[in-house]
Amino acid sequence: MKKYFFGAVVLLAAALLFLRHRENWKRHELSFFAMDTPVTLTAYGPAAPRGLRDAEDAVRKIERELSVTMPTSAVARLNTGETLPAASAAGRAITAALELCAETDGAFDPTLYPALRAWGFTTGEYRVPSRDELTELLKQCGVRHLRREGGSLRLEAGAMIDLGGLGKGLASDVAAQALKDAGVESAVLNLGGNVRTLGARPGGGRWRIGVRAPEGDLLGVIETDEGAVVTSGNYERFFERDGVRYWHILDPQTGEPARSRVVSVTVCGPNGERCDALSTAYFVMGPQKAAAFWKERGSESFVMLTDNGDLLACEDLAGRFTVDKERKNAKVTVIRR
Ligand code: ADP
Ligand code: MG
Repeated sequence: MKKYFFGAVVLLAAALLFLRHRENWKRHELSFFAMDTPVTLTAYGPAAPRGLRDAEDAVRKIERELSVTMPTSAVARLNTGETLPAASAAGRAITAALELCAETDGAFDPTLYPALRAWGFTTGEYRVPSRDELTELLKQCGVRHLRREGGSLRLEAGAMIDLGGLGKGLASDVAAQALKDAGVESAVLNLGGNVRTLGARPGGGRWRIGVRAPEGDLLGVIETDEGAVVTSGNYERFFERDGVRYWHILDPQTGEPARSRVVSVTVCGPNGERCDALSTAYFVMGPQKAAAFWKERGSESFVMLTDNGDLLACEDLAGRFTVDKERKNAKVTVIRR
């Protein structure tokens, strides 16, 4: 009798432990549209429902600060000549963008909005500006037009800032922090190709992040601990005129879509904001310059798909990146330090 009683207690304890484990790792998901892109936040455990609500609030708050198309945003007001406190959230994002511009020798440039707008990328009313028009517009671009006066930022007339190249990455960091503050230990966030993970995968081990290929299929899978996996591609936003494709990542030298032989580039690192900016910068640089930049500066690693279907991967990612089996014939070149 005693033996049966003991057995029942063990069974009950095991069942309770199992239920508790399931509760700790229960999956919660929240999807919405923000920052011009579909957002899916997935978090695990009992703190997830509240954490997800906080994370959505955090993303929407960042959007309200940074959006170039919301006339009331801090960036839009700066663009119409108002001053902006440098210590505000938008002011700090602009300062980070300026640092990334200097770091990437101008490949990432947050002042291209006059040119970007002429192409219609923010409104969807696409057109191909003439070379003369772009040359004129480029005069209004450049970080020299942004003035710091005491604790304030101000733009010269005609100049405009656009943080579209790092906003989603920054929002992913802020959302991850909101989840952490709510007590969530495990989450994966996807803001239109800007993936950010928090903690470890439920049950332990690295996250496996699928990287989208241009045709909508899978390029491969990247394994990562807590951090960001950010992809920029020329198939994200583009239009075609007379058989020519024009996309939304511009070469700051010309104001035209960057024709650098890159189709997509995926960047991995601890910080979403930096990975987002670097994905844009590496795209502009193209394979040779990006590889040289990475070797020289030891910056965040990347996997790049070029227009002939070849892949380029930094050595520390090579072991964590698996090419999709549909592309197993692709040539993969490993960049070594
Ligand atoms: P996505 O927004 O599709 O994830 P990116 O992160 O590469 O792709 O950002 C592209 C956006 O960045 C453009 O829509 C534009 O707002 C801005 N942008 C375009 N070219 C540049 C550039 N050379 N430097 C900084 N920002 C850029
Ligand atoms: Mg980017």
